[in-house]
Amino acid sequence: RIVYVNGDYVPEDEAKVSIFDRGFLMADGVYEVTSVLGGKLIDFDGHAKRLERSLTELDMAMPMSADDLLAIHRELVAKNGIDEGMIYLQVTRGAPGDRDFAFPPEDTPLTVVLFTHNKPGLADSPVAKQGIKVISIEDIRWGRRDIKTVQLLYPSMGKMMAKKAGVDDAWMVEDGAVTEGTSNNAYIVKNGTIITRQLSTDILHGITRAAVLRFAAEAQMKVEERPFTIEEAQNADEAFITSASTFVMPVVEVDGATVGTGRPGPVAARLREIYLEESRNAAI
Ligand code: PLP
Repeated sequence: RIVYVNGDYVPEDEAKVSIFDRGFLMADGVYEVTSVLGGKLIDFDGHAKRLERSLTELDMAMPMSADDLLAIHRELVAKNGIDEGMIYLQVTRGAPGDRDFAFPPEDTPLTVVLFTHNKPGLADSPVAKQGIKVISIEDIRWGRRDIKTVQLLYPSMGKMMAKKAGVDDAWMVEDGAVTEGTSNNAYIVKNGTIITRQLSTDILHGITRAAVLRFAAEAQMKVEERPFTIEEAQNADEAFITSASTFVMPVVEVDGATVGTGRPGPVAARLREIYLEESRNAAI
């Protein structure tokens, strides 16, 4: 695999970053994951805008223009022959040459790394035809989940708790309501209404979420943006998650209780279909 590191395209085993990099020492950095379908990027503009927002919230500047970032994404897609998959982009506050809690001087170059994941068959996933199972866990993350930081230890532990419980993922719960999945936004469907938590600093503002809610509105589906409980999810007609890497993925079990029929529901299936079609058409 050819990867990008600070201006260079190199084979992955030749890519080097300093041990003093603040991403490595302090999780001081942000990331984006953009999916690729038919060799083209899905919602690149949304990801570039959210990257800029994450950086700004942490007093970092865009390391280059969105157009230059787009060119790097495209170059990696071409160099690695990606038809379906993802591109991971990470920007950290650079490597000031020692460890210090205070931020380094502003002219310290940011570290920019990108690499590809080749995932043939990503869109035609058999998992989407079965649906996934989730457990609930307490949400003990920090209070700025709207910033897409590389501080992913708790979501990673959540994923392990799910694995140990024999399921696919965990939904995090705070003050009695679901915030989001370990790496996705969470939804239920009740009596034809799609319910998902409203945007705030409590959750990541999913790029897939924004697109799916737009398509739902265009298809005259009813959407309510509010918190919901695990009990509501267990008694819902349907549940699903969204993210750049799973698109729209049905959820058929929550904490051991079957949701709806236990099979992917019509709303989730329809939204997945619309999302994939519209996204392919708009891909760049
Ligand atoms: N919520 C969390 C915590 C995430 O990590 C992610 C994606 O990684 C999402 C939601 C979904 O965001 P997007 O649709 O932009 O991939």
